[in-house]
Amino acid sequence: MSILQVEHLNKVYPNGTEALKDISFRIEKGESVIILGHNGSGKSTLFRCVTGFEKPTKGSVNIFDRPLHPISKKELRNVRKNIGMVFQNFGLIHNLSVFQNVLFGAMGKTTFAFQTFSSFASSEWREKAMDAVERVGLVHVAKRRADQLSGGQKQRIAIARMLMQEPEVILADEPIASLDPKAGKEVMDLLWSIVEEKNLTVIAVLHQLEIAKEYGKRIIALKEGNKIIDADKDGIDETFLNSIYDLETTQKKYEEVNVRKIGGIEYSTFQ
Ligand code: ADP
Repeated sequence: MSILQVEHLNKVYPNGTEALKDISFRIEKGESVIILGHNGSGKSTLFRCVTGFEKPTKGSVNIFDRPLHPISKKELRNVRKNIGMVFQNFGLIHNLSVFQNVLFGAMGKTTFAFQTFSSFASSEWREKAMDAVERVGLVHVAKRRADQLSGGQKQRIAIARMLMQEPEVILADEPIASLDPKAGKEVMDLLWSIVEEKNLTVIAVLHQLEIAKEYGKRIIALKEGNKIIDADKDGIDETFLNSIYDLETTQKKYEEVNVRKIGGIEYSTFQ
């Protein structure tokens, strides 16, 4: 069974922007893939097309060997139950505790409304949620409101919540773009250790070349809506990758525009 199959995908927005141009690739079970590209290269559009949030103009997306366009709302919900999504902005419910946010991850598995579920969740679900909180190293803040935690901790909650779904595949859209470099590395290490532990398939959208090279086994690079690289990381010529990805410009922009030093610590807001 292939996890994701994208064929001749094309997306033109109503304003005429051609965000994706004839993109095709196939991702098999157990692969670890980074979708890499600068801001505006089409990564988010691709992410939205393969998660059913956006309708392609042309081409097809099959996930778990099922076509995603067209698909009924009910079927889409069923497909998404097997996809653990991680977003740049975490997607937490701020006024709930860490534990409750994590427990919320099991909602796809039950028909209860959240209030009912949260109050009457079985001891089995509660135990699972606590295990997930422990796995991401947040037991000491389990009762604290989510909005009282740091960015890195918030992304850990989101990862624990995703674990409750017991997904087959993780789709992460810029999971560390809102984090400082240290927290970003911790989150990537955590995510990848979970992927290896549970033998999951992971597809992560990133804009940082260095991080992509460190974590992904396969890199699919986009530039101006075109797929310009699709190869095993070890098989890619570094000079070629750097020249295609325009590393020098990336670093320059990063240093000149977006790195702010606060109290001696560098914070990146680079996109
Ligand atoms: P990335 O995630 O790599 O930054 P996007 O997929 O967000 O790239 O954008 C790809 C191109 O499509 C860009 O030129 C962007 O301006 C354009 N775009 C994205 N979303 C929309 C939209 N809703 N309407 C019109 N143009 C869009």
